[in-house]
Amino acid sequence: MSKDLISKKLRNLLLNSETIKKGTFNKLYNYLQKNELITFDEIKEYQDLNDLTTYIDDLINACRSEWKPSDTQPVQDLGLSYKDQKIECNLCGYKYLKLKNKIVNQINGKVLVVGSECVKEFGEEVKGLIEKVNRDTRRAERRVLLENHIPGIRAFVETTNLVNSFDMIIPLNLSVKLSEITSDIKNNYEEFISEKFNHLDLIEAKWEIKEHIIEAIKSFVNENKQEKFAASFAIKNWILKNNSSTLTKQIREDNGFIKWRTIHKIYEERFMRSVLQQLNVYLKKENILIESLNPSNRIVKIRFSKKNKILHGNISYQDFLLNIGGLLYNETDINATFKDLIDMVKIPLSDSGNLIVNFVLGKLRNVNTNLVYRSGDELILKHKDEYIRISALKLINDVKSLYFEDNISNDYFVNWIATHKIKIMSLKEFKNYKQAKELASELKIKNL
Ligand SMILES: [Zn+2]
Repeated sequence: MSKDLISKKLRNLLLNSETIKKGTFNKLYNYLQKNELITFDEIKEYQDLNDLTTYIDDLINACRSEWKPSDTQPVQDLGLSYKDQKIECNLCGYKYLKLKNKIVNQINGKVLVVGSECVKEFGEEVKGLIEKVNRDTRRAERRVLLENHIPGIRAFVETTNLVNSFDMIIPLNLSVKLSEITSDIKNNYEEFISEKFNHLDLIEAKWEIKEHIIEAIKSFVNENKQEKFAASFAIKNWILKNNSSTLTKQIREDNGFIKWRTIHKIYEERFMRSVLQQLNVYLKKENILIESLNPSNRIVKIRFSKKNKILHGNISYQDFLLNIGGLLYNETDINATFKDLIDMVKIPLSDSGNLIVNFVLGKLRNVNTNLVYRSGDELILKHKDEYIRISALKLINDVKSLYFEDNISNDYFVNWIATHKIKIMSLKEFKNYKQAKELASELKIKNL
C-alpha cells in the first residue's frame, strides 16, 4: 500500500482554505475536488502533480495560517454526555469530540469544528489561545465543583487579613491556628483548580477545622471584648491604622489584652483619657491630679498640692505610663509617691516655675543674695561684689520637691548655687553683659 501524501484530513483543510484556489495551485485544487486523497504513487502517474512535493509543505503552512480561533466560544466542553452528542471533527472525521474547538478562516469566513488533536497542527497563535481557553474553562469548572461542595470557599480564599477581622485582637495561639489553616486551604484551593490536587475530601476536612477555629475565636471575643484592657474594636482599629505589627504581636502574646508593656504605645485618644482617669484614682491619695492631656503632643499636665501650695508639671504620656502604668495592673513596687511623681515631671518656666524661683529667692535674701537681673532662663544674683549667673529651669527642676518642704536651710540653696553657677562676673562685667543683652533684645523687637 502506498503512503498518503495528502490524507483525507489534509484535503479537508486545503479545500476549506483560499490559498489553494490561486493560480499555480489550481491543478491540485481541481484534482482534490474529485479525489479523496493523494498517495505517493499517484504523483508519478499524473503529470499535473509532478511538482507537488516541491511546494506542498509551504502550501499547507499557508493554508493553516488562514485560520484563527473563533471570537465566539472558541472552546466548548461538551461535558459528560459528549459521546451521545456525536460531534464530529471537520478535519479528521473523529465522531466523539469531548472539546469542540471552533476555528474561523480569516479570508472566506468559513467555520470548522475540530478536535483537540487536530487543533494542535495549527500555528502557535491558534494552539496557544485554544489551550489557554481550554485551561480557563477547566479552572472555572473546578471552581464551580469546589464551590458546590464547600459553599463560600471562594469568598474565603479571596478574603485578606481574616485574622484582623474580629472585634478584638485575638490571642496568639488562635491567630496562628487560623493563619495556618487559612494558608493551607488557600494553597489547596489553588492546586485544586489548577488540577494539581484532587482530594476534595481533604479540603473539606480542613474547612471543617477552620470552622471550629473561627467558632473558638468568636466565643473568645464575645467573652472578653468588654473586659477592662481588652484590645477591642477602637484600639484594634487604631493599631491596624498605625500599622504596628510588633505591637499587635505583643498584644496577641498577652491573649488580646493590653498590659503594662504595651499600654504606653497606644495613643487612641479615648483610650488614653480613660487610662488617665483610672490612674487618678490611685494618685488621689498622694494629692496628685492628672489635669489634662494634649492629644496632639501627648503631654500630660499634672497638679501637685500640699499645704496650700500648688505646682503644675508636664510629662509625656509615654514616659508617664512606662513609669507608673503598673498601678493599673496592681503591680507592687511602683514608685508613685508625691516625691517620685514630682521628680518625674518637668516644671516649665512660667507660673509654677516662677513660684519656685520666688521661693528660692526668699531663702537667699536671708543670706544677702539678691536677684539683680532676669531674662527668660537667665538669672543673675548678687552676693557681696559677685554677680552670679544661673539657669532658672535647672534650678526649678532641681529643687522642685523642696518647694513643699518646711524646714529647708538657706545653706542648701547657697550650695546649689555654688555647684551650678554658670558664670561669676564683676560689677563692670555685669554692666557690660546687661547692656549687651538689652541691646540684643531691642534689635530683636525692631526686626519683628
Ligand atoms: Zn480531528
